[in-house]
Amino acid sequence: MPTSPKPWAKEGYLSLVTKKMERLKIGLDLDGVVADSAPAVVSAIYKHFRPGQPYEERFGLSVHAEELKIPVETILEFVTSLLVTEEFYQKLKPVRGAVKGVDKLCRIGEIHLLSHRPQTVKDPFDISNLTLGWLRKWDLHSKIVSLSLNPSHLDRDFKVNQAKERNFDLYIDDELEEAEKFWDIGLKVVLFNLQNDHFSLSKEVAVAHSWPKIVSAVEKFSGV
Ligand SMILES: [Mg+2]
Repeated sequence: MPTSPKPWAKEGYLSLVTKKMERLKIGLDLDGVVADSAPAVVSAIYKHFRPGQPYEERFGLSVHAEELKIPVETILEFVTSLLVTEEFYQKLKPVRGAVKGVDKLCRIGEIHLLSHRPQTVKDPFDISNLTLGWLRKWDLHSKIVSLSLNPSHLDRDFKVNQAKERNFDLYIDDELEEAEKFWDIGLKVVLFNLQNDHFSLSKEVAVAHSWPKIVSAVEKFSGV
């Protein structure tokens, strides 16, 4: 039988207490925010299609298919084959400032890592164990509460569904399209953008061009 709310609950006292006792739940994208995967893909493409030629820093996060004179389909085929190799994931480095930044974030709230990496690549390796090993290697393992990998390549809403199910307060991603889904369901969003791209944004989205900026945005949202 429903009971009428107590006067103090009506006045918002209860929600205030609950808010203080709960830790902020922060969803964090793995590739592109914590692991420096995008430049690793670009660098692998240039090394593969221009063997013996030095990799130039100017390539950054972009591949110039016309300059390479390789059809886009051929490049995509190569990337697909690259992403199912154990070596690619093992060699990744953290994004600049990510290790320190994650350490700061875990003092503000609990961090839940989400990734579209497929949960299990049966042969020849298990991506879950590989990813956990990578997190341990960079001393990130103890700073996160959970790691969720996508059970299927095809589930494009995997991350946003996880956020809904687990009541995240805030989400950090490097893809605009992905970030948009989160503010559509009412989360605070930080868009990590290393390239200073121009796009139109909702008011609730903070854009961070570096890890210290991510930390400041989260601090602002959390009222620290
Ligand atoms: Mg990403």
